[in-house]
Amino acid sequence: MPTPGSRKFEGGKLVIASHNPGKVREIDALLQPFGADVVSAHDLGLAEPVEDGITFIANAEIKALAAATASGHVALADDSGLCVHALNGDPGVYSARWAGPSKDFAVAMEKVEQALVQSKTSDRSAHFACALTMAWPDGHMESFEGQVHGTMIWPARSEHGFGYDPSFVPDGFDLSFAQMEAAQKHAMSHRANAFKKLVAACFAR
Ligand code: IMP
Repeated sequence: MPTPGSRKFEGGKLVIASHNPGKVREIDALLQPFGADVVSAHDLGLAEPVEDGITFIANAEIKALAAATASGHVALADDSGLCVHALNGDPGVYSARWAGPSKDFAVAMEKVEQALVQSKTSDRSAHFACALTMAWPDGHMESFEGQVHGTMIWPARSEHGFGYDPSFVPDGFDLSFAQMEAAQKHAMSHRANAFKKLVAACFAR
């Protein structure tokens, strides 16, 4: 069912406002059925804006608006992260920063493990959160959120995926996100859940 009142994407170029190849790959795959002419902010050489929002939606809006304004095309941004419940939602909007300047997520997953050990709780529950914002060059924006709940595991189980995927097992599954085929993760991830809402609002007729 189309969502009344939201602005539709009318086709043409769609800029994925991200410099993260893992995210660009996943969003590109999710957009495949909609025939958009997809290009990434990285490919266009757009600068990365400062993400100083304190919510996922605030940061997604900063990125989408910057890319739409700079490119003159509709832009789609994702801001997402891992929220560990026993750590009061950390690393949350700082998920990328926990990996340090070298963007080493083995380090970030180890930091999460150490923080949990220090917290002296056995609660390993967590969720991934994703905010997607579609921005138009005139400043109009539509934002949507999705989540997926699961459990943190160590040692990390790595095969596919990116970021914290190797240490996250979604509820109802035995495999970590990194062990799943891309299509299996795309069918049920936080990004997929936000994407369903975006499609209903901005793509469905
Ligand atoms: P940002 O949204 O670009 O600030 O970065 C969010 C960070 O959260 C990413 O760099 C990843 O480390 C992490 N993250 C977001 N979504 C996922 C996911 O689907 N799997 C694993 N890690 C993720």
